[in-house]
Amino acid sequence: STLKLKDPSLLRNQAYINGLWVDAASSFDVTNPSNHKLVGKVPNMGAKETQAAIDAAQLAFPGWAAKTGKERAGVLRKWFDLMISNADDLAALMTAEQGKPLAEAKGEVIYGASFIEWFAEEAKRVSGDVMASTWTDKRMVVLKQPIGVCASITPWNFPIAMITRKVAPAIAAGCSIVIKPAEQTPLSALAMAELAHRAGLPAGVMNIITADSDKSIEAGKVLCDSPVVRHLSFTGSTPVGRILMKQCAPTVKKLALELGGHAPFIVFEDADLDAAVEGALQSKFRNAGQTCVCTNRFYAHESIYDAFVEKLAAGAGKIKVGDGFDQGVNQGPLIDDQAIAKVEEHVADAVSKGAKVLAGGKKSALGSLFYEPTVLSNVHDGMQIMVEETFGPVAAVVKFKTEEEAVAAANNTDFGLASYFYSRDIGRVWRVAEKLEYGMVGINTGLISNEVAPFGGVKQSGLGREGSKYGIDEYLEIKYLCMGGI
Ligand code: ADP
Repeated sequence: STLKLKDPSLLRNQAYINGLWVDAASSFDVTNPSNHKLVGKVPNMGAKETQAAIDAAQLAFPGWAAKTGKERAGVLRKWFDLMISNADDLAALMTAEQGKPLAEAKGEVIYGASFIEWFAEEAKRVSGDVMASTWTDKRMVVLKQPIGVCASITPWNFPIAMITRKVAPAIAAGCSIVIKPAEQTPLSALAMAELAHRAGLPAGVMNIITADSDKSIEAGKVLCDSPVVRHLSFTGSTPVGRILMKQCAPTVKKLALELGGHAPFIVFEDADLDAAVEGALQSKFRNAGQTCVCTNRFYAHESIYDAFVEKLAAGAGKIKVGDGFDQGVNQGPLIDDQAIAKVEEHVADAVSKGAKVLAGGKKSALGSLFYEPTVLSNVHDGMQIMVEETFGPVAAVVKFKTEEEAVAAANNTDFGLASYFYSRDIGRVWRVAEKLEYGMVGINTGLISNEVAPFGGVKQSGLGREGSKYGIDEYLEIKYLCMGGI
């Protein structure tokens, strides 16, 4: 690998099971999407190694669960500190395997670390309850206990944050966990394991198995089938979420699913237009459009439509596309050929049905995985981009006339993750916020995520909430004690 880290021991080529670095019979390549060069090799693990990781987690669980919240918080806090002091290396690793610009990667390291800090604090605040009894001779008490061995399957778009958002609350609650990171970005996960090891996390509490796309299916099956695994958390596509849900039915596992989105972004006639354009650019082009909360459909009121699309196109034209390590770049490559093919298909379909290209509209000359920031006007229902998640740098803008029409159109989808709207009318702000069928609503802002907020979706965007004071409940069981004989 040509990657230069201040601490080269953060670049691992083995997986992490039971506190040890381990190999498998074969390995697979991790490449840089910007230039297709090799970044590293990791073990290609299947059923056998997955089972070994579950066994290790099962063995570690009672000891970890028996520690006090304060003791667990101490380890998490050390892990957080190590992430911050190694943030530059973690960011470089992430840019190398994922492609996002270095500054954005650094931002994700800080964002990812914030979940560890937050849940370190929450570890100390898992409190039970005493109910007012309806019996004079009985007392009613509620305990909260860790659910047990957990499993996580994570995606490539946020190689660190999608792991910490699950692992930190699990570990804080006293659970142990097996993680299967995305095949495109296992190196960030392994670097995190190295830092957790240094922080003193006991063997088996967190295990990371690596697998290519075929072996991931095999490993996933073992995680779902295991009666020992009590909880599965997954971030990824809705079709894979459905498969995992089905596979978890026989063991009746608790599930946390963060699936696809198709975020609407409504710009009302009373919006601060420049602020709306700025929020639109942030919500659409961050991570090259590869986030599940990225806007997929813009709705602009007819009275400001032309001005909005013009300003949006001008903004998109200023985005600098390039290799994530190059100075001043704010959009890197897409993750792979499939991602590019989908973007090309959505744009071609929209154009064939009457959409106008106001910016971009084609691949960049920089390389096979780069796509120009694109703005399409004249977009209407019946285009693929209006129903499927694009996961790329394409802003599709639809014209609307009334508030009722915009809200109905925004809700006309099976997805329900993030939504956004811009308005300065306080009555409208409440009306629309209450009517949008989404887990998250950004009002006069295009950026909504942080560790304090509950992240999650309704409808087919998933189950459960991550982060916030609610996030740890996912990993706790409620036990009711009814104490008689008093
Ligand atoms: P994306 O389209 O973002 O790559 P996927 O849902 O395909 O999203 O992948 C997200 C994660 O799910 C990755 O870690 C991938 O390896 C894993 N995965 C994909 N298919 C399966 C499957 N059938 N069983 C278990 N894990 C899977």
